[in-house]
Amino acid sequence: MFEDCTAAELANALDSVRHGSPENTGILSLLDQATLRWAMRHPELVPRQQAFAQARQAQWPRTRSETTWQTVVASASKLATALREHGDAELRLCQERTGWGTCHLPLPKDGPCRSAAEHLPAPAH
Ligand SMILES: [Zn+2]
Repeated sequence: MFEDCTAAELANALDSVRHGSPENTGILSLLDQATLRWAMRHPELVPRQQAFAQARQAQWPRTRSETTWQTVVASASKLATALREHGDAELRLCQERTGWGTCHLPLPKDGPCRSAAEHLPAPAH
């Protein structure tokens, strides 16, 4: 999920977190994964991505409170603002096969996938 989102679409998803349920940690986990890929490609997003990742990890049933939820909403909103600066940019994700499924690492501007050693050889014909 969110693999094909543009930066703006992912930002909208982050902004809509505030309208969701504080118990829906599944969507937070997916947003964490998706924004982590963007932070790998755009290092200036790393601090805000990490803030969101930490906030959502405090949102488990045993630790969550009104305060942790407000931190999730606020950090998601800050990350959305930073992501939106990339507008309609899409992340080019590696489509090679690996032992655990499609690689899906963000590809650098040029050069090979950083996880190329994990790619499986193309199937023989
Ligand atoms: Zn790859």
